[in-house]
Amino acid sequence: MRVFDRAVVRVLPAVPRSIVRRVAGRYIAGSTLDDARRVVSELNAGGIRATVDVLGEEISRPDEAQAIARAYHEALAAIETDGLDANVSIKLTGFGLKVDAALCRRLVRELVSDAAAKGIFVRIDMEDSSTTDDTLDLYRALRDEGHEGVGIVLQAALKRTQGDIDALAPLRPSVRICKGIYLEPASIAFQGFDEVRRNFVVCLDALLEAGCRVGIATHDEWLIEQALERVSGLDESRYEMQMLLGVRAARGRELVAAGHPLRVYVPYGEQWYEYSLRRLQENPKVAGYVASDLLRRIVPRRSA
Ligand SMILES: Cc1cc2nc3c(=O)[nH]c(=O)nc-3n(C[C@H](O)[C@H](O)[C@H](O)COP(=O)(O)OP(=O)(O)OC[C@H]3O[C@@H](n4cnc5c(N)ncnc54)[C@H](O)[C@@H]3O)c2cc1C
Repeated sequence: MRVFDRAVVRVLPAVPRSIVRRVAGRYIAGSTLDDARRVVSELNAGGIRATVDVLGEEISRPDEAQAIARAYHEALAAIETDGLDANVSIKLTGFGLKVDAALCRRLVRELVSDAAAKGIFVRIDMEDSSTTDDTLDLYRALRDEGHEGVGIVLQAALKRTQGDIDALAPLRPSVRICKGIYLEPASIAFQGFDEVRRNFVVCLDALLEAGCRVGIATHDEWLIEQALERVSGLDESRYEMQMLLGVRAARGRELVAAGHPLRVYVPYGEQWYEYSLRRLQENPKVAGYVASDLLRRIVPRRSA
């Protein structure tokens, strides 16, 4: 990232919410479930699957976790009613992991049971490294209880991930592999761009070798090419490409046209601000977007 871009990223939290919303609008379906239904059905019409995410990881009270869980039950009902090709992605902190771990486990179990009754898959997103063990433990417990329609996410940035793949392999888990978005210390995480890329490929190979179903979540062209070489000839049930709403959509459509399954991550909800900041902070063009939006506000448009 250039020096100017980095400077803009640092001041982003000071940028007015209205501007963040306008610039980041493409990364979120909107504030309501109806917004998500509309976006998912548009994606489906283009042959693209979706995973629906109710934004809300910043919670501090049990009733907020219950509200998020309720919103997910409503999302499941909408997916079933509308016949959408979609599953859901959840974050354990949104379900109260840091507030009341027992409540979190109960709410997740209820959701997974509801989803199973509707034939809908639940993906548990991976958050920062303080949650990795709890997330993998809950995943194992759900599988031990016979829940098959649930999967996890592993992060190539973490040094432990290869070991986690080996340990989980007997379960033949459904795994989304991604770089990992959280800043982690050098003691536990690869810091270099190329190191993370290399580990992504090593992990992808290990997952395919173990017979896992893999969601390959990246917009990095080099990694997409590496992945396509590896999945060539594989049955559709073994893999899918995954991307975030609003990021490299044209490349996504190319993948679909070439016959690859693609799932797009569709976040929606009132708590769009933190998610939007994260997306903007990793967007190399963020400086230009924010600056031009600010300029449009400062310099009034001339009438024609
Ligand atoms: C479906 C999906 C689910 C994910 N789930 C998780 C999760 O559970 N836990 C977790 O830690 N992380 C998750 N991530 C985020 C992931 O870990 C990375 O932080 C993120 O995908 C960026 O890495 P990248 O592989 O796309 O490569 P990058 O090198 O970051 O990006 C490659 C290229 O993609 C484009 N690009 C990337 N981001 C943007 C953007 N915001 N706006 C515009 N263009 C952009 C740019 O052209 C960039 O050069 C998920 C990502 C995806 C796609």
